[in-house]
Amino acid sequence: MGLVVQKYGGSSVADAEGIKRVAKRIVEAKKNGHQVVVVVSAMGDTTDELIDLAEQVSPMPSGREFDMLLTAGERISMALLAMAIKNLGHSAQSFTGSQAGVITDSVHNKARIIDVTPGRIRTALDEGNIAIVAGFQGVSQDKKDITTLGRGGSDTTAVALAAALDAEVCEIYTDVDGVFTADPRVVKKARKIDWIAFEDMLELAASGSKVLLHRCVEYARRYNIPIHVRSSFSGHEGTWVSSAPIEQGDKPVEQAIISGVAHDTSEAKVTVVGVPDKPGEAAAIFRTISDAEINIDMIVQNVSAASTGLTDISFTLPKAEGRKAIDALEKNRAGIGFDSLRYDDQIGKISLVGAGMKTNPGVTADFFKALADAGVNIELISTSEIRISVVTRADDVNEAVRAVHSAFGLDSDSDEAVVYGGTGR
Ligand code: ASP
Ligand code: MG
Repeated sequence: MGLVVQKYGGSSVADAEGIKRVAKRIVEAKKNGHQVVVVVSAMGDTTDELIDLAEQVSPMPSGREFDMLLTAGERISMALLAMAIKNLGHSAQSFTGSQAGVITDSVHNKARIIDVTPGRIRTALDEGNIAIVAGFQGVSQDKKDITTLGRGGSDTTAVALAAALDAEVCEIYTDVDGVFTADPRVVKKARKIDWIAFEDMLELAASGSKVLLHRCVEYARRYNIPIHVRSSFSGHEGTWVSSAPIEQGDKPVEQAIISGVAHDTSEAKVTVVGVPDKPGEAAAIFRTISDAEINIDMIVQNVSAASTGLTDISFTLPKAEGRKAIDALEKNRAGIGFDSLRYDDQIGKISLVGAGMKTNPGVTADFFKALADAGVNIELISTSEIRISVVTRADDVNEAVRAVHSAFGLDSDSDEAVVYGGTGR
């Protein structure tokens, strides 16, 4: 029996009862003969509460102190979990990210892991302990300051430790039974996926699916660590995310033509109105945006009106960056040359993802037909080899997701999608 890394999210350890329930599960894995490393998130909504608190004392807290504050959330849960395990008669030791050897760059609030040196974890395991590690945090290589990996970063901690310790699997325990063909909070008939390839999972994560973070899947693919996403509230088999299909009753699970439908209402649309239709204009606009360190998603340029020689360019970006983008463009108005700016944060994005798209030409037409039948108007379109995305009115998103999900035969026969916990905050 090999080494397993298990990660428990905030909703799984929301209160003392949750911590005791999770402790039992961990002890089960240990009794089955595994070496067990556990990565834990902050309890329930702790991280959001700490952020609220910081904003009450300072409108712009320093990155260093902000990280110091937020990492406290995971330290609470790691210590309580170690205590609960000891109470069940097993030995456990908790470690901060820094103690566990999670080394990052020094970009506060969204640090990247650059190395993992889990010497102390190895020693703890060799001495028969269960090792509990605080997720979402590390220590910067140069300044030795405490850093955080960005919201939801505990998943990345888990995969990074699994890679460094050569674990046989990284189990991500959450409040749903796995990865579904759509968000089970929106589509009651969403179906649990048994196996999904890294590529499809990456596209779903990039398109707004929240069950796994993009960065965590990227890391798992790079080191080829299979992820098993499952619920800490049920004993059900979850979703395997890996490079090669898992076996089910001697046969490999077939790759689905369509993996799922993702949606995202966290973006806004900026339209630059009245741009001269000549070379260099798009370059000037998007240089301005990238100098402000803003990542954009989709772009469309309209056909210019022959009479004016002017065109409009629209793009989408995270709502949180909206203000910054508008300010940067306004400041550069003379240099770029445009009439006005329009900002719209009432948009939503729906994406259909599946490797089968490459070889099935009808998929695009069926997707647009499903949206049309649901009376949903399309504002922007973008595609990759295995994804089609559209932007619509935010109010239409849930309806659109359900329509597309049904049209592609993804609806399950039963209401199998259960959401066990979490406030969705
Ligand atoms: N507690 C952190 C957050 O809420 C990290 C995590 O849950 O993965 O973002
Ligand atoms: Mg969390």
